[in-house]
Amino acid sequence: MRVCVIGTGYVGLVTGTCLAHIGHHVICVDNNEEKVKLMKSGQSPIFEPGLSELMSSASASGNLEFTSDLAAGVAHGEILFIAVGTPPLPTGESDTRYVEAVARGIGAHLDGDYKVLVNKSTVPIGSGDWVRRIVLDGLAERQKPQNSEGVTGEEVVAKTGVQFDVVSNPEFLREGCAVHDTFNPDRIVLGSNSQRAMNMMVELYSPIVDRKFAENTSLPPVPVVMTDISSAEMIKYAANAFLATKISFINEVANICDRVGADVTQVARGIGLDSRIGSKFLQAGIGWGGSCFPKDVSALVHTADDYGYEAHLLKAAVEVNERQRLIAIEKLQQVLKILKGKTVGLLGLTFKPDTDDLRDAPSLNLIENLNRLGAKVKAYDPIVSQTGMRHGLSGVLVETDPERLADGCDALVLVTDWEQFRNLDYEKMAKLMNHPVMIDGRNFLDKKVLESAGFQYVGIGR
Ligand code: NAD
Repeated sequence: MRVCVIGTGYVGLVTGTCLAHIGHHVICVDNNEEKVKLMKSGQSPIFEPGLSELMSSASASGNLEFTSDLAAGVAHGEILFIAVGTPPLPTGESDTRYVEAVARGIGAHLDGDYKVLVNKSTVPIGSGDWVRRIVLDGLAERQKPQNSEGVTGEEVVAKTGVQFDVVSNPEFLREGCAVHDTFNPDRIVLGSNSQRAMNMMVELYSPIVDRKFAENTSLPPVPVVMTDISSAEMIKYAANAFLATKISFINEVANICDRVGADVTQVARGIGLDSRIGSKFLQAGIGWGGSCFPKDVSALVHTADDYGYEAHLLKAAVEVNERQRLIAIEKLQQVLKILKGKTVGLLGLTFKPDTDDLRDAPSLNLIENLNRLGAKVKAYDPIVSQTGMRHGLSGVLVETDPERLADGCDALVLVTDWEQFRNLDYEKMAKLMNHPVMIDGRNFLDKKVLESAGFQYVGIGR
């Protein structure tokens, strides 16, 4: 099928590339010329395992193209994905201005062929109808020069025969394993009131639904959840709110464990084996972050507020998380007492391993608060240390390897559970430090190994 994906970030580029890999002809559109130039030259602007290889093969086969020309993308696609960012506003609402700009632009370029517009971006509940309205506005604006009194979108639809439907198709991929998640989804959610649009979406995803590109091709088909648009939009928010709440829950249990002398890792195992609870998202640590959980939970709280409902549980999940983000500082103060003049090294900067994404990462909070308390902050991150991204960071000296990081530190904090941090030369690192203290912010390291390397080991809730 002919597909256009607008917005080539973590979601759009992965979606476009994977759809091209399974045989669709995809044009990816981005208004960032630099990014488009990079992608045309065969490079991925983001770090995502396996993505560059797929981009190369799909581009070589002619199934994947990049452009900054929205008109060309709209003319090409029978299915048009909107995958631009919806960052948070200071009020907690989603900033939908990028979606609006794209919808208006689509309206300005729609021709007579039937198109399906797919909201892949996480958008506030009710956005399906809103996007339709904006597209019609874009259509009407296009007619203005010929008709200075203006026409409505509906009149243009009647006159030009333009036909389109809107589908909500929320994305659940995880950064760091986004390609894997796209080929092996737990479910695909489609929300629309148009059977024609639904049929096209089912056809589009059928190779994935039938597990043709899955790790395990013998599994039963991927469940496709078909709903109305608002329910599909709500599914995305509810899923992220649940996962974030689950982490806040175990962090609260960890804080109680710390006080009563229990070990939260053993508690998590003990409760996670209960199939009603499940073991995932029960790792206590320094809190959730990233580009999705914080903004999506806040947006849902805000939507509830708009409808006169106070989302107590979600607000508490956010509050617990805000406090948890400071837990590493509390622990540093317990061990080192005064932080002014001390040097703290952060192992990891990204909000999770296997990504280069720093948006709303707990490391940023730590850097800011350690600086405020007068500590010098250094960091090492397997990706950030190797890329130019370090230039965007302030208040932290980014080192090129873990040993340089350890040199002269009064304590280290493990912030991101990168796999390579399991087997660093901790003995050597301990010797380079003023005080070999390790605050394991993800309960990720082996306490015994660290202690025998000479570290004072402090976990979260253990
Ligand atoms: P991103 O910020 O990485 O990428 C957005 C892209 O859109 C950028 O490349 C930007 O240049 C481009 N863009 C902005 N305005 C444009 C325009 N007018 N025309 C063309 N391109 C334009 O965003 P992301 O992380 O990929 O997230 C996209 C959406 O998907 C968000 O709504 C997010 O909440 C949702 N989502 C993200 C994830 C994730 O893990 N990142 C997971 C699920 C859902």
